[in-house]
Order: sequence, then C-alpha cells, then structure tokens
Amino acid sequence: MASIELHELTKHYKQAHTIVRAVDGITLTVDAGEFISIVGRSGSGKTTTLDLLGLLLRPTSGQVMIDGVDTGKLRDGARAELRARKLGFVFQDFNLLPGLDAIQNVMLPLRYSKHGKDGKARAAALLDEVGLIDRIHHRPDQMSGGEKQRVAIARSLINKPSLVLGDEPTGEVDSETSQQIVGLMRRMNREHGVTFILVTHDTDVAAQTDRVIRLKDGKVVSDVRATPEQKFLSGADLQGAIA
Ligand code: ADP
Ligand code: MG
Repeated sequence: MASIELHELTKHYKQAHTIVRAVDGITLTVDAGEFISIVGRSGSGKTTTLDLLGLLLRPTSGQVMIDGVDTGKLRDGARAELRARKLGFVFQDFNLLPGLDAIQNVMLPLRYSKHGKDGKARAAALLDEVGLIDRIHHRPDQMSGGEKQRVAIARSLINKPSLVLGDEPTGEVDSETSQQIVGLMRRMNREHGVTFILVTHDTDVAAQTDRVIRLKDGKVVSDVRATPEQKFLSGADLQGAIA
C-alpha cells in the first residue's frame, strides 16, 4: 500500500534575476512501513523536499498525496489537521520546549489533535519505550543530546502518525549516540508500523535504512533498495547511492 506519492513535484524560488529550482520534478512512491533516507550534498533540495512532504510548504507545481489524499486540494486548516493527525516530526535541534519536562513535551502535539483522553498514559508508555521512564520529569536542560532526541522521537509518535519525518535527526549528537538514535527509530518503525523518512549527511545513518534516495539539484539521481534477503544495503549499493 502506497502511503505517499509525489508526482512531478517542484518548488521554485524567485531570486533577484534567477529562479532557484530547489525541488525540480520529483516523482516517487513510498509504501507504508518503509524506512528511508534521503541523501545529497548541501543545497540539493533535501530540506525543501521534506518540508513539502510535511505540508510545511506548498509546491510550485505537482502533487503530494498522503494516504490517498491530494494535499494540494486542501485549505490551510485541513492541511494543519492532516499534519497533526498523520505526521510526526523529529528535528536536528530537538525542538523541545525548555520550560516543559519530558512528559509535557511528549504530550504537546495532543493539543492539536483529538487523541486527548489517554494521552498521559500513552506519553509515559512511549517514554518507557525509548528508555526514559526515569527521566519523565527532567527538563531539556537536564538531559543529554541523545536523551532529548529520544524525547523528540516519543513526541513524534504520540498522535499515532503514519509517517515520521526527520531532517538531520542525528546532526547534533556524537556517532555512537547517532547509531543508537537510528536503531531506536528502526525499532519504532517496526513495532509501530510507522514509515520513517530521514534526511541525513551521515553514511552510517543511511547504511541502516532500507532505501536510500539521493538528490542532486532538486532531482532524484538514484533510488536504491535493500533486497528482502539483505538486512541492510550492501557497501557497493551504498557507494553508488552516496558517493
Ligand atoms: P538541502 O537541505 O539539501 O541543503 P535545501 O532544500 O535547503 O537543500 O535548499 C535547496 C536549494 O534551494 C538551495 O539552493 C537553497 O539555497 C534554496 N532555497 C531553500 N529555501 C529557499 C528560500 N526560502 N528562498 C530561496 N531559496 C531557497
Ligand atoms: Mg537541509
């Protein structure tokens, strides 16, 4: 079942005398439950693509279909509602509110959704799943980078999304923590059946995903999947996808 379809997607920015083709004709299908990385050099269009997928930007042309809904046809209010219900976000800088403790941060997206009732119990269960049951009342300034990102992952799942998007989610943690974070996302991907799409610079992160999509100048230049028999992409596949 396809959860996402991008069709001839573009996002162009007019600068003084030129047009920046940040995203320049991307067509691809993502099936429910995939675990994907998007790679490419700085400026290749990764963040713009992710922001289009996250309904944070409207495209110049083309379509973003999420679970069969043509999101371009929705007004802003309906897009925000779809975003709250279907999408989770994990950011490079964690994006936790400093005045709130871990469980309050995890519960924050519940304000914008209709999942209210058992919210606190679910937030605690998610913090337990990410290994932070003893940090529930710690504020962000009382946690390490890896712990903050684990809180952010728990938060991304609180509304039971079908898709979690991460823009450089391991960009601010050391390489060992980075591996733990990706491992945790992978476990959440399997256990919750949630699709993950991660933008990353890090070859070691991409190597742990099932599919690596490489962008250049706003276009897909390669799209490589691990075969079902492979646990991860082979070195040769990755070389082609990333180098
Ligand atoms: P990446 O995340 O791969 O580094 P981006 O998606 O951020 O790439 O940017 C792709 C291209 O679009 C870059 O050339 C960037 O300068 C340009 N760009 C991104 N956002 C804007 C904007 N708001 N206005 C003008 N140009 C932009
Ligand atoms: Mg970027």
